[in-house]
Amino acid sequence: MARLFVSDLHLDAERPQATEQFLEFLSRHAAQAEALYILGDLFEAWIGDDDPEGEKARVCIALRELTSGGVPCFILHGNRDFLLSEGFCERTGSSLLPDPVVVELAGDRVLLTHGDALCVDDHAYQELRSAVRSREWQRRFLSLPVAVRAQLAERARAGSRAHTARAVPYIMDVNADAVAAAFRATQVRRIIHGHTHRPAVHELEVDGQPVQRIVLGAWYEQGSYLHYEDGRYELRELPRRRAERAAG
Ligand code: MN
Repeated sequence: MARLFVSDLHLDAERPQATEQFLEFLSRHAAQAEALYILGDLFEAWIGDDDPEGEKARVCIALRELTSGGVPCFILHGNRDFLLSEGFCERTGSSLLPDPVVVELAGDRVLLTHGDALCVDDHAYQELRSAVRSREWQRRFLSLPVAVRAQLAERARAGSRAHTARAVPYIMDVNADAVAAAFRATQVRRIIHGHTHRPAVHELEVDGQPVQRIVLGAWYEQGSYLHYEDGRYELRELPRRRAERAAG
């Protein structure tokens, strides 16, 4: 049976066709799988486990159906949904993994990470990252009313869009030294990550050893997942139907 990996779905009420496609992916593909791994940014924003938004609730119910059906779902924080916590895990039956994490997949040791921590050339983002990942920042943010949190999240997204538009492309990609350091520190031969929205399989060499970096794709224009079965990894695309695209 296959293990499936997705990331960067950025599900949001403004893009209902991506949510529909993910729900279809869960029932059609993930339901037959051995396990589902979500490597961050399942949601465009997550303002706390008490987020009452309806589209997110639908996704949570679908994940709960998946896990109740016997398919374990593992999830990592992305840079958009790093506030996913125990409440989300209880609602969905999924398990939150630390980022980064080394997992053993049918004998293959693999490093899973969202990928933003590897983009060390983006200094402004890395500063923001350490600020919002602090316990104190999160405690203060989560103590605000839901409506205020939603407003702040909207402002943060606008700021992030402006930053991405200004930044030179290489800054938004992983740093080669950071990648090599991650391979050395964990002694794995394979890293799977998302975040950069540049799906690809990179064959590399670290200290004379062949290693592989697999990058998952985003779900803005179409669906995308990594299929692992019988020792083979394969990036697969899920085309989005024309009518749905036009409706979006
Ligand atoms: Mn991301």
